[in-house]
Amino acid sequence: MYIKDTITFEDVLLVPRYSYIESRSEINLGNKLSERHSLKLPIISAPMDTISESPMAHAMDMAGGMAIIHRYNTINEQCRHIESLPESVVVGAAIGMTGDYIDRAVELYRAGCRIFCVDVAHGHHILMKNSLKTLRETFGTEVTIIAGNVATKEGFEALSDWGADAVRVGIGGGSICSTRIKTGHGVPTLQSVMDCSRSDRSAALIADGGIRTSGDMVKALGAGADFVMVGSLLAGTDETPGRAYLDPDTGSRRKVYRGMASKEAQIDWRGHTASVEGVTSSVPVKGPVGEVLKDLERGIRSGLSYSGARSISEFQAKAHFIKQSMAAATESSTHILI
Ligand code: IMP
Repeated sequence: MYIKDTITFEDVLLVPRYSYIESRSEINLGNKLSERHSLKLPIISAPMDTISESPMAHAMDMAGGMAIIHRYNTINEQCRHIESLPESVVVGAAIGMTGDYIDRAVELYRAGCRIFCVDVAHGHHILMKNSLKTLRETFGTEVTIIAGNVATKEGFEALSDWGADAVRVGIGGGSICSTRIKTGHGVPTLQSVMDCSRSDRSAALIADGGIRTSGDMVKALGAGADFVMVGSLLAGTDETPGRAYLDPDTGSRRKVYRGMASKEAQIDWRGHTASVEGVTSSVPVKGPVGEVLKDLERGIRSGLSYSGARSISEFQAKAHFIKQSMAAATESSTHILI
């Protein structure tokens, strides 16, 4: 049996290249999600109940990115999140691919939403094919459709051919994900991005899962992602749902961040558990998400300037990856305390 070698974020580095960029403000981080929607900042917040509701959507839009309002609520609740935003805000809403998903999509459309995200753990699936067909028959090209997740080029191309404008790429890499432990399945996220970026399909590629730093974002973009989707990087900010609590052990204030397939999340949204493929955790309170996004944006701009690139497409043409040894990876992280 042939077994392929794969890589992920910490296995690689980008080699600095000659730069003609005099100021990082010259760098354009904008990208097209579809013919109808573009973002100025290539960061999308994950459709999770501890990350994306209307306060996050407002802040993401202000920063030039976008939130996807999660679907672990009633149709009315999800619509209220959309309706409470000023019209001009670019926001997406998650739907499933079974049950009430079309009713949900119709109501979300009525509420003003024009970006849907068909949000499932294993998107390269016959039910995805049927749901994308139904969504396109219902809404035509009036809406932007994001779909996922997939881990392979075949999956990326299938979702694109079935009607998705953008595809979420990454299975098993999320910080709160236990899919690989529970099922033995998954592909390192950066590898999936590299594989999918070889496709000739025009769907936008959203790298999703396991992105821990702006450096990981830069690597994902260099490997071919048009956007990155993040959960843990935004967890604990003021705009996430849920209250901060005092951790008696450390004396620090924390907020819950949990996988949508964790036992706790499943019990909250459907009253029972099916396969548990996520965990519940907590993170320190981080303050306003706008500050976190500014810092991430600065890191991405600096990253593109190290490769001498003025735009994401120029960066992708110039990105020169090398593999690093474990000793090099130790050198690459701050190591004064080691
Ligand atoms: P993070 O940015 O590494 O925290 O990963 C966030 C991503 O994890 C989300 O965008 C989803 O694709 C994925 N995810 C969310 N909940 C779960 C879960 O319970 N199990 C597996 N993956 C999950």
